[in-house]
Amino acid sequence: VDFHDSPNDAAFRREARAWLDAHAQRRRGGAAGLSALMSERGDDPQFLQRSRAWQRVVAEGGWGAIIWPTAYGGRDASMSQLFVWGQETARYDVPPNVCSIGLRLIGPTLIAHGTPEQKTRYLPAMLRGEDVWCQLWSEPNAGSDLASLQTRAERTPSGVWILNGQKVWTSGAHCSDLGLIIVRTDPGVPKHNGISCFVVDMRCRGISVRPLRQMTGGANFNEVFFDDVVVPQENPVGDVNDGWRFALTTLMNELYGAAALDVTDLVRPVAELARKTGALDDTLLRQGLADAYARAKLITLTSYGA
Ligand SMILES: Cc1cc2nc3c(=O)[nH]c(=O)nc-3n(C[C@H](O)[C@H](O)[C@H](O)COP(=O)(O)OP(=O)(O)OC[C@H]3O[C@@H](n4cnc5c(N)ncnc54)[C@H](O)[C@@H]3O)c2cc1C
Repeated sequence: VDFHDSPNDAAFRREARAWLDAHAQRRRGGAAGLSALMSERGDDPQFLQRSRAWQRVVAEGGWGAIIWPTAYGGRDASMSQLFVWGQETARYDVPPNVCSIGLRLIGPTLIAHGTPEQKTRYLPAMLRGEDVWCQLWSEPNAGSDLASLQTRAERTPSGVWILNGQKVWTSGAHCSDLGLIIVRTDPGVPKHNGISCFVVDMRCRGISVRPLRQMTGGANFNEVFFDDVVVPQENPVGDVNDGWRFALTTLMNELYGAAALDVTDLVRPVAELARKTGALDDTLLRQGLADAYARAKLITLTSYGA
């Protein structure tokens, strides 16, 4: 594999760097390139506010969602350009992106399957960082076997839907305005057929979000409980009972987005700290760091092929 920029990508890199030079400060050190929701500050309100504000600046500059089609404010960027943008932004002191789940996973799903009204209503606000989104897929008994999900939605005679059930591992639910959820709408058919996809307003009555505190102290994932949550009749995305297709669109976009992750950035600050404190003189610690770097590099290279 040739990791050098093609002439097109080199031009793209120059353009990205020139824009970033004009709008941000070069980074002096520290981890970069992580999604805000994966960082240990994913539940710090000031940090989240800064992240939303930066997304607005980026969107105004035309860099807010580069993989989206130009018609929706994107740049129709290629996979390699997504890498280039990720590498370039990692050089600057900009907040990690709290809007990444919306921009990477949910935006492309709405572009592919949403109604014109849904696109107009949700995409611009998502792009500008005004609405943070979460992805409500996994459940306690539906992880790898996602189609076993049991959260259900029932249509009332008035046309609205009532949601009941539980999701888990929902990144960023604690700071999300909106969510895309898959639920069971027909329990009487084979499991992949009775699933539907809805937009839910995370501030609705009946939704409780419980953060899951990690051993690192951060709390980026959540349990989310739905107790008779009323969802308007215009909120299904695509046809009712055809939601599995949309779930797959989102999961494919997740693979695409994962390819932009350079996890070697996680190891570098530790190495820098070890150098500063003199700990690097310890042979075993040096070997441990080299091992961690090699593993991180492998993950990064694997994600190039995702
Ligand atoms: C960083 C991160 C962020 C996440 N964010 C979100 C999010 O925002 N929204 C969301 O909905 N979910 C999210 N998830 C959840 C993620 O999608 C689930 O972890 C995933 O679906 C796996 O489910 P599980 O953890 O329940 O594992 P399980 O399905 O219980 O699997 C546990 C283990 O058993 C193995 N296994 C399972 N089935 C079989 C089988 N039939 N044969 C052999 N081995 C098997 C698996 O490979 C795995 O090793 C996130 C997860 C991570 C790690």
